[in-house]
Amino acid sequence: MQILSGGCHCGAVRFTLAAPPIMRSYCHCGICQAFNKAPYADITLVQPRHLTVNDLAAVAFQTYRRPPNVKRGRCRNCDQPAIEHLNLPGTRALTIIPTRNFDAATALPPARMHGFYDCRVEDVADALPKYSGYWASQLGFASHLIRAGIRRRH
Ligand SMILES: [Zn+2]
Ligand SMILES: [Zn+2]
Repeated sequence: MQILSGGCHCGAVRFTLAAPPIMRSYCHCGICQAFNKAPYADITLVQPRHLTVNDLAAVAFQTYRRPPNVKRGRCRNCDQPAIEHLNLPGTRALTIIPTRNFDAATALPPARMHGFYDCRVEDVADALPKYSGYWASQLGFASHLIRAGIRRRH
């Protein structure tokens, strides 16, 4: 399935998934804006154990702020966001893949929410829940993860 593969712009960092992603979400926080060079991030969350990356040495990781502990990785060649490792308190470690990196991004499920909406640089006219502020965003994120089945055992 094409939905389960993708890579960075130049193709140096390629990935495959052994199972469908957990969920997709938008984040308007300042770090996501800066990291993605975009008004907000369109991110897809996957289980790290389902993810295979062809060449992790091609990814340059940087930690911007903690908590939450997010290690954000760019391709060393094209400098595009490649993968990010997320460790939120109380949940399992997750991996974030920029949605546009999927080969069939348009086939992914719709996003479930907007986080850090108070940091937005532009309004978004959709019916998704919008969370403002650090704690509301984190709790909203966690509750959507649970509803998406993060606790489900495979
Ligand atoms: Zn690249
Ligand atoms: Zn963010």
